[in-house]
Amino acid sequence: MVEKIRARFEVLDERFRPVSGDAWMERIFDAGRWTEGPAYVPAGRYLVFSDIPNDRVLRWDETTGAVGVLREPADYANGRTLDRQGRLVSCEQGTRRVTRVEHDGSLTVLADRYRGKRFNSPNDVVEHSDGGIWFTDPSYGIDSDYEGIRATAELDGCHVYRIDPRGAVHRVADDFDRPNGLAFSADESTLYIGDSRRRHIRKFAVADGATLAGGEVFAAGDAGTFDGLRLDAEGRIWAAAHDGLHCFAPDGTLLGKLQVPEITSNLVFGGARRNHLFITATTSVYAIRLNVNGAAYPA
Ligand code: MG
Repeated sequence: MVEKIRARFEVLDERFRPVSGDAWMERIFDAGRWTEGPAYVPAGRYLVFSDIPNDRVLRWDETTGAVGVLREPADYANGRTLDRQGRLVSCEQGTRRVTRVEHDGSLTVLADRYRGKRFNSPNDVVEHSDGGIWFTDPSYGIDSDYEGIRATAELDGCHVYRIDPRGAVHRVADDFDRPNGLAFSADESTLYIGDSRRRHIRKFAVADGATLAGGEVFAAGDAGTFDGLRLDAEGRIWAAAHDGLHCFAPDGTLLGKLQVPEITSNLVFGGARRNHLFITATTSVYAIRLNVNGAAYPA
């Protein structure tokens, strides 16, 4: 039986009032330790997500509601995205790399080091329409053995990187404490990146799909750290926080929250029309149909 929980939309700005949906949220999975990395695969009608401390990747089947193990052990996979060819691109904390699953099931390592030094533990990832892969590299996967393998950092901090379409790795931001979730605006002129230790989200201008400028604080959190980010089709920014999802207008106003009973880590808009919102939150995954749609990309 799927547990149903009353949905609580907290309106902080009148612009949030039209955002609603089901009167309840469904708890579609409840046996994790720290769920993360949700990605929805429309061709197969399933959701893939990580259960990081248990070192496994799970799959929820929309047609049956069943959850099964897709990969175990899973190199402590964390955040992931679906690229424009429908392939899953994942951050692996245990192997400290970014990988892609090809259509034949084989795994391609996209990047595992920068200038000869291993990454800390890639956390979250997004694809640019030019094929570049952008990801954050905080140290959570090497800080302890809880969600990775304890190790000494080789790099001089926790930075943001871009793998260009030819496979070369570039450092695109080096002034974060713990960079975490990231998402492009629909026109890709803006990149939002959360800093989970500083508890804010920053906003960068993207030039030529390759470099960042600006980086002012876009939104500060009032409920714990920010983790994963996704945009909806109206350009609103949805961010995972400790009391649920926070929804921001493109001008940075906190419009409202969708309260969730556990600390949230990430979200993705799924379903054929991207109006089925999936939220990874501590031990669980929650799902709710909204009357807003997710952006086509990042997915
Ligand atoms: Mg994260």
